Amino acid sequence: MKRHCPECESARVKPIAPHSGILQCQECGWEWSVGSTTDTELLIYFGKAMWGSRWQAEMARALGVHPDTVQDWRQGRMIPRPGVWTDLRRIGEQRRSTLAAILAAIDKLQERTKP
Ligand SMILES: [Zn+2]
Repeated sequence: MKRHCPECESARVKPIAPHSGILQCQECGWEWSVGSTTDTELLIYFGKAMWGSRWQAEMARALGVHPDTVQDWRQGRMIPRPGVWTDLRRIGEQRRSTLAAILAAIDKLQERTKP
């Protein structure tokens, strides 16, 4: 998924942090969000952020679709229907709540173990 800097067109572009959704040009320092991504790119970002490298199988399982369907989306042969995005969003929200609770628990643990 090669991208170019919208400012200087350099291909030396890296995310500022994994799954941050923000890319930075290594030439000119320009930063931009991947808000103007295609369905395919967004699906891949979401999948990797949620499930890591095995995301396609996990996404198929979570959505109750055949793995070939996810592969069709990933390769751009088909785009997900709007209901799929609704489902993915719900799954993402759940993950966010779970992570928020776990992070809060970690904070508490660290407070307890502070000298
Ligand atoms: Zn640039």
